[in-house]
Amino acid sequence: MLSKRSEVQVDVTRPIRGDIVGGSSADIILKQARIYASERNFSMEYVMLMRYSLLAVSELKKHPEFGLKSSEPDIMRMREAGDIACSIALDRLEVLKPLLVKRFEQLEAAQLEKRRHADVFEDSRVDGLRVLNLPRTLMARFLEKAKANTRNNLETCGILCGRLAKNAFTITTLVIPKQKATSDSCSTTNEEELFEFQDTRDLITLGWIHTHPTQSCFMSSVDLHTHCSYQLMLPEAIAIVMAPSRSPSQGIFRLTDPPGMDVIAACRNPQMFHPHDGFEGQLYESAGEGHVRVADGPLDVRASRIVGGYEERLRKGVGAFNLDGKMIDMPVVKWAQRLLAKAESIAEIDKASGPASP
Ligand SMILES: [Zn+2]
Ligand SMILES: [Zn+2]
Repeated sequence: MLSKRSEVQVDVTRPIRGDIVGGSSADIILKQARIYASERNFSMEYVMLMRYSLLAVSELKKHPEFGLKSSEPDIMRMREAGDIACSIALDRLEVLKPLLVKRFEQLEAAQLEKRRHADVFEDSRVDGLRVLNLPRTLMARFLEKAKANTRNNLETCGILCGRLAKNAFTITTLVIPKQKATSDSCSTTNEEELFEFQDTRDLITLGWIHTHPTQSCFMSSVDLHTHCSYQLMLPEAIAIVMAPSRSPSQGIFRLTDPPGMDVIAACRNPQMFHPHDGFEGQLYESAGEGHVRVADGPLDVRASRIVGGYEERLRKGVGAFNLDGKMIDMPVVKWAQRLLAKAESIAEIDKASGPASP
């Protein structure tokens, strides 16, 4: 059971910054581990730390930008931080292991006892997914913020952020970041600010929401690829599509698994919009009621102004700099630093444990 839920994948076809909105997979996994540790849910903490270690040790190596090198002081610091984070995770796993073995023995004994009494053992998770609570007002409040764009036939997107407690996620904050939009696409333009906003408040990215101003309510091929990154980061992540001019006017979606996740993660079609022949109609589905629960609950809406500092830095000339004749902007640098830190920590582990398999 542990090994199945410990699998981690990184989408190696995407550039570093495009990989993730609002944090790296590793950061999100560590956040979850910390929450489970504070709740003394050691088995889930173990799963998260396993996923983190696997991600660090194996998957990031496959990233084409893995080999980035720099001796900038900032990057050196990031390297050290990465080393420490990874070794702490591995140490903690060693501590947790005996606790878990004991716990599983207890559970197994309890289950045997239950069967003896002819009871049916039921898992509280639905399809292995943890519950995600969605505030009832979210869609209406998002549409209200998106109104001007929708009127001008421009898409709007927002990021769903929230918390994990007692093995369930709750969306607490809707962030509408700075973005560029057309009638059939939108993309965030300042992931760095968004990431900092989430990090300082310990928020986890739980999915995203966007409008189709004139189109119907469906997941375009661009949407499928965007959502694949979210769902790789967090299997419970959702995509909400709002199509106010059509009926149905809203949908809560996730990629099927299988075949949706595998097909999209493996798709290398460079066209923005493209078909996925042979799989149309099977790639995504409405999120199940056991997975997403619409409920009354507070919602903090943060529209766009969380950014802003970036342009100022850019004006002052510190937001972008020249590397080998190419202008590199800050978010790209940040992502590269994060990845580099992880890469370095992997190298350290390899050094300590002998050569890695090719
Ligand atoms: Zn769309
Ligand atoms: Zn594709």
